[in-house]
Amino acid sequence: MRLILLGPPGAGKGTQAARLVEKHAIVQLSTGDMLRAAVAAGTPVGLKAKAVMDAGGLVSDEIVIGIIRDRIAQADAAKGFILDGFPRTVAQAEALESLLDGENLKLNAVIELKVDQSALVQRIVKRAQEAKAAGQPVRKDDDPEIFKTRLEAYNRDTAAVTPFYAARGQLSAVDGMQPIAEVAAGIDAILAR
Ligand code: AMP
Repeated sequence: MRLILLGPPGAGKGTQAARLVEKHAIVQLSTGDMLRAAVAAGTPVGLKAKAVMDAGGLVSDEIVIGIIRDRIAQADAAKGFILDGFPRTVAQAEALESLLDGENLKLNAVIELKVDQSALVQRIVKRAQEAKAAGQPVRKDDDPEIFKTRLEAYNRDTAAVTPFYAARGQLSAVDGMQPIAEVAAGIDAILAR
């Protein structure tokens, strides 16, 4: 199974992706996680990406497309994958399309988590508090001011990815403001179609 979860930062993509990984024995490909690992390891990609990530901007298409191209080619992705946080621009969506076409692979679903953006800042504050209480590191970009910049980047660059898939008849949507279990049920219903 190959699927994409779309939605603004804080919409719950990571939470749902983690559950789908268990359920369908596929890998979660989160460009955010991969970039954070590159930053932590101090790789050339990490060094390039750090400042823009800390400021809540988007890393260049060239870098993230390269990361995804390499990752999809690895053996564990052959059984299927869930993309979380990619594609974030139309250029990334186009690159993914030609990558998959080249391998004769199809997407099973592209699912948008629809959320009320005004509620997201509160969600992100909660995510940071919970991480802190659990003794986990708090993401630098889960700061309310930086989060606003991330939402702006979403509305400027990423919102256009949804119509890209709608135009191809591939897009489904779930109300992401529901409790986690209900969002999960909505996603499962789409995947069972
Ligand atoms: P995320 O964990 O998905 O919220 O991503 C954290 C940060 O990593 C984003 O704010 C961007 O700076 C960067 N990032 C992750 N995925 C992408 C992508 N597909 N394109 C550009 N930048 C990305």
